[in-house]
Amino acid sequence: MTTQQDEVRRRRTFAIISHPDAGKTTLTEKLLLYAGAIQIAGSVKARKASRHATSDWMEIEKQRGISVASSVMQMEYRDCVINLLDTPGHKDFSEDTYRVLTAVDAALMVIDAANGVEPQTLRLLEVCRARNTPIITFINKMDREVREPLETLDEIESTLGMPTVAFTWPVGMGKNFGGVIDLRKEQMRVFRAGQDRAGVEDDEILAGLDNAEARKRFGMYYEQAQGEIELVSGASEPFDREAFLAGKQTPVFFGSAINNFGVREVLDALVDLAPPPGARPALQRVVEPTEPKFSGVVFKIQANMDPAHRDRIAFLRISSGRFERGMKLKVVRSGKEFRTQNVMSFLSQRRELVEDAWPGDIIGLPNHGVLQLGDTLTEGETLQFTGLPFFAPELFQIVELADPMKSKQLRTGLTQLGEEGAIQVFRSQLGGSLLLGAIGQLQFEVVAHRLRTEYGVETRFLPARYQMARWVTSDDPNELKKFIDANAARIAWDSVEAPTFMVTYRSDLNVAEERWPKIRFHAMREHA
Ligand code: GDP
Repeated sequence: MTTQQDEVRRRRTFAIISHPDAGKTTLTEKLLLYAGAIQIAGSVKARKASRHATSDWMEIEKQRGISVASSVMQMEYRDCVINLLDTPGHKDFSEDTYRVLTAVDAALMVIDAANGVEPQTLRLLEVCRARNTPIITFINKMDREVREPLETLDEIESTLGMPTVAFTWPVGMGKNFGGVIDLRKEQMRVFRAGQDRAGVEDDEILAGLDNAEARKRFGMYYEQAQGEIELVSGASEPFDREAFLAGKQTPVFFGSAINNFGVREVLDALVDLAPPPGARPALQRVVEPTEPKFSGVVFKIQANMDPAHRDRIAFLRISSGRFERGMKLKVVRSGKEFRTQNVMSFLSQRRELVEDAWPGDIIGLPNHGVLQLGDTLTEGETLQFTGLPFFAPELFQIVELADPMKSKQLRTGLTQLGEEGAIQVFRSQLGGSLLLGAIGQLQFEVVAHRLRTEYGVETRFLPARYQMARWVTSDDPNELKKFIDANAARIAWDSVEAPTFMVTYRSDLNVAEERWPKIRFHAMREHA
């Protein structure tokens, strides 16, 4: 019998963050390979291209070869249960990505050694940093002619503002990639190419940090690596687990995902260094994972594959207690009961019925709209987990109906898509058309497509003149009312009736901030 404490302790829940093409899909495959989920490993790639091919609206994804939706993969490695949450990787990524990062305890950052830190990685990292999420770094594609490792580390430190601690160090690169030196075990693992390599059992190991055989074989590349290792170990701070756990230091590994080289070290680091599920803040109190009663929060809603049925899967991260299939839960927001007969887990990607699950695990709850983003489910206690972010949109479009008779369908569709978090819907103070807000352009395309295929509504999207939006609050309700009245033409209400100040030029915001010192302007709203 394992105790709840054991189950919590062996959970690792993380996401991979990267810029498109850095190698996230490839690395995911190799991680699954180690976890023994081989039949799946080969299919991750296929999934990338044709994920949810059964769903019509996902055509967009197929056409553009990108992932619109995220998913969850659970695997076992050593004595740990690892939950890997996929984050959509396209540059037009949506708000979904951000929210997925609120459900993990650590992140694995994959960097293309040739390109260094790229824009999307930076954005995702901001979210991690805001939450002090610990980050492990994998510098990929060392089998290519890439940047010098020192240069890449420098770049990570300066752009991310986070010290790096090398755990492995590469010997050569590209055609001359000799392998990596493990600085803790003080040994070199010799590189072997091969896409289908399963494991590391037959890898060649050269012991020590000054191995005669290695010097002979890799010559100047080995010497260069030795020099660099001396340099970094002198210049950089030693690994400090507390600093890592606080998101203030990142361990770095070099390798080549496609050759399954250096991947095992990363997986071991996840097990050895990354934290198990910790306490999670709720409005009312802090919730410990080891508490006996179940609680969890919905961080993602995905429309199901069958548009006709309009069912959705709510992805819930368990915060505390034990989930048992069939248990009755309470949706705290609505007070409604939720029965959990056919809840899904994601073990090895087979969407099997889950019997039980533990803190850190993700379960999928099929429903028809009773669950919303940010919903907390408990065994009865009134708890509302905080921290699920809604970001102020950066792109705006006005929706126009091709057929005015369909306005009811449009409203229903947009309400539901808004609840899923696919898009943010605003209603302006003075009435008139609905305004849509997004972080990525692709969100508009997905919404237009889904409105057409799922709700039978043809729409036209027209550019709106806004550049920014800021949620407004004030400690003084009268002042807020005055502000709203004085700015009626620029106020819109979001789906939860939160007043939002629509900004045409950035300077307008500055002016408003100066003129209304008692009003706060927020770029992010937390679900409440
Ligand atoms: P994603 O967009 O981040 O999921 O990236 P993918 O895993 O699809 O990889 C993008 C491209 O880089 C693919 O063509 C991969 O085959 C290639 N790739 C991934 N890892 C490596 C590597 O270690 N070395 C080399 N040379 N190519 C790689």
